Amino acid sequence: TERLPSPKVLAEEQDDATIRPARFEDFVGQAQIKETLAIAIAAAKRRGETLDHILFSGPPGLGKTTLAQIVAREMGVAIRSTTGPVLDKPGDLAAQLTALSRGDVLFIDEIHRLNPVVEEILYPAMEDACIDVMIGEGPGARAVQLPLEEFTLVGATTKVGLLGSPLRDRFGFIFRLTLYEVEDLVRIVLRSAAIMQTPITPDGALEIAKRSRGTPRIANRLLRRVRDFALVRGDGSIDAATADTALDMLGIDPLGLDDVDRRILTVIARDFGGGPVGVKTIAIAIGEEVRTVEEVYEPYLIQIGFVKRTPQGREITEAARRHIAAA
Ligand code: ADP
Repeated sequence: TERLPSPKVLAEEQDDATIRPARFEDFVGQAQIKETLAIAIAAAKRRGETLDHILFSGPPGLGKTTLAQIVAREMGVAIRSTTGPVLDKPGDLAAQLTALSRGDVLFIDEIHRLNPVVEEILYPAMEDACIDVMIGEGPGARAVQLPLEEFTLVGATTKVGLLGSPLRDRFGFIFRLTLYEVEDLVRIVLRSAAIMQTPITPDGALEIAKRSRGTPRIANRLLRRVRDFALVRGDGSIDAATADTALDMLGIDPLGLDDVDRRILTVIARDFGGGPVGVKTIAIAIGEEVRTVEEVYEPYLIQIGFVKRTPQGREITEAARRHIAAA
């Protein structure tokens, strides 16, 4: 189900293009990934070779798309972007692949959601830069091999375990992005505020960073909301008090948990006696998709030590119990 973006969303997407880091120097954190990539890119350029295929995995909003764009830019090549679910038929992928020039990047977001028939086309494309296409129909149909330009596939997935090994094994690099530390999020908020020309104190940035669930996209989103609030209710500048009031108003608690997080915790604590309870059951109880619970909400709840994953299901911790009791 695709919804038309509202004017508000469109405005934010434009904002996003200006604050999205365009080079490694502006991309905060994930030091090891940046260093490995920078070396690989320098080596490929020196040898005049195409960069090996790259897979990025990690929760939404951690910078997978941004890194794909930086890689293309640093290689000095064009990037074409698409997503797994959009590539419905083999022909859809073939059209993308044949449009690439030598060395270009093809970025496939949500690559774990590729149709298996489409995924099979990728194997020879990644390995031998060719695809098999069927010509004609019925008994006269025959397969011909079509050569492609050498290219770099950059795939993004929320979880590397969702990919089958035939696809996974064809990537030369597999990087797992982890949730960001608060200090890194502070730097991201300060940088974005500077681009938006919004005055902000270090404490104001810290308040936003602490409530961003380790996620740059959320940090930028909260910054925009606090910025609106500061403009309408104050003098347009952000300090800790402004950030705190605005975020409370949005229902974001001091740990960055929102209404859905709190419902997840309450369901485990009250309806299932603290767990263990299966993720499917939790998803049904709160009316969200299993995937959303697993890939969007759970990573942060696990990171802050509120939820434990056990073979029997999810369990809530003592710290989480205290947190919801205090709320
Ligand atoms: P993903 O593809 O993993 O969902 P994106 O690459 O779209 O995430 O990143 C979401 C937004 O967060 C980007 O527009 C960018 O502005 C910001 N962002 C992500 N990672 C970083 C980072 N390391 N440093 C600065 N900003 C970042």
